[in-house]
Amino acid sequence: MSLNFKNFIKLVERRNPNEPEFLQAVTEVVEDLIPYIVENRPDLVDLNILGRIVEPERMITFRVAWMDDNNEVQVNRGYRVQMNSAIGPYKGGLRFAPDVNLSILKFLAFEQVFKNSLTGLPIGGGKGGSDFDPKGKSDTEIMRFCQSFMTELHRHIGPGTDVPAGDIGVGGREVGYLFGQYKRLQNSFSGVMTGKGTQWGGSFIRPEATGYGLLYFVQCILDFNNESIENKTVTISGAGNVAYYAAEKAIQLGAKVLTLSNSQGTIYDKEGLTFEKLQHITSLGRNLSRYPKKYPSGSYHAKETPWQFKCDIALPCATQNEISEADAKRLVKNGCKIVAEGANMPSTAEAIRVYEQAKIHFGPGKAANAGGVAVSGLEMSQNAIGQQWPHEKVDHRLKLIMEEIHKTCVRYGKEPNGYINYLKGANIGGFLKVAEAMKAQGVV
Ligand code: NDP
Repeated sequence: MSLNFKNFIKLVERRNPNEPEFLQAVTEVVEDLIPYIVENRPDLVDLNILGRIVEPERMITFRVAWMDDNNEVQVNRGYRVQMNSAIGPYKGGLRFAPDVNLSILKFLAFEQVFKNSLTGLPIGGGKGGSDFDPKGKSDTEIMRFCQSFMTELHRHIGPGTDVPAGDIGVGGREVGYLFGQYKRLQNSFSGVMTGKGTQWGGSFIRPEATGYGLLYFVQCILDFNNESIENKTVTISGAGNVAYYAAEKAIQLGAKVLTLSNSQGTIYDKEGLTFEKLQHITSLGRNLSRYPKKYPSGSYHAKETPWQFKCDIALPCATQNEISEADAKRLVKNGCKIVAEGANMPSTAEAIRVYEQAKIHFGPGKAANAGGVAVSGLEMSQNAIGQQWPHEKVDHRLKLIMEEIHKTCVRYGKEPNGYINYLKGANIGGFLKVAEAMKAQGVV
């Protein structure tokens, strides 16, 4: 069997028409994998591992009908993409947002396979969600939607089969409603979801894990280059779960965090955010424009992103494709030395090329934001043995996992000139473990 990049991508394109995000994610991965396996692992070429890994094992779409507060019947579409279970049960979040479609969920599920493998934990890859928009919905509407969503999803998941979690639009509240409905339908209290409350099966540090893990990864990059994070300027996009805890940890480690943002605009605070300022931002909800009223060192930039501001480290933590080629060029021109992705695929392919040409350090999401799913994996372990580990133990494990991921990236991503291509390292390192398992399990 032969394997060549152009023909491979053509085939993926033909089988997945009108799925630009999925195609972008596959291209980004196979660009690194094909040369590597052709040269080093002809056995994996013969077994068509790549052809199999880009095809979801199963995809489920379903109707989610629910009643709004005006007693009108609403209809949304639910999805679960079960991408790969070679190394463990499918694992990945649920996203509730109006732009959710199969292309976005397939890209996320595909990335999740490599990310989960990199954590070193026995978890496969999946992703799901709905085009339901939680913004502006009442608490009871959210509950009714979650219950209807789980009424269908429950038959396809389980602690040894598929373990969903949160993502954009799905936080602790939604996980609670989803879990409650699953428990009612199955008559069983099990570890079927992660991100649960700490009083009912959740792990300490899970809410913080993605943001904290991102900063631990940035610390590894800096350590590797004999530098420290203290007094480095950091710009962060988003003002949700990942962005908030990334900012909190960055401040704790002595960095100066200049921005947070949402889909309406950006806060820039020239004096840097503090814990108190972060709390105030949370109290503003989505109305970030009110920030400068309380803190005049801050300014609000409607409809703008953080990437225009000078920084040492940029942490995109909002959504996919939020850094364009022009943004990346501006970052490089302004002296940015590290881009580490808290969000999934926030940099476009063109932006990544700019980072690589400028030889700045680029931590791709599948490595840099793996802390969230890593602690989800630890939550599964705690559920399986009926224990809850203390805060410090989970945080310590999280740090060790991020250090191991960094080592894997260095091992497979070191180029002859010494530059660490973290994307290549993460792609190859994440792939090999899954590929070995697929090889051992035969043609399925
Ligand atoms: P949240 O829903 O908590 O927050 C998302 C934030 O991003 C909000 O501030 C939102 O603003 C902003 N945002 C969303 N869409 C856009 C947009 N198009 N332009 C600008 N800002 C936008 O989600 P999370 O923090 O959980 O997730 C953020 C990213 O991190 C996602 O890519 C997710 O897949 C990824 N991720 C999350 C993990 C987790 O543990 N939660 C784990 C690994 C990755 P607004 O309110 O205005 O929409």
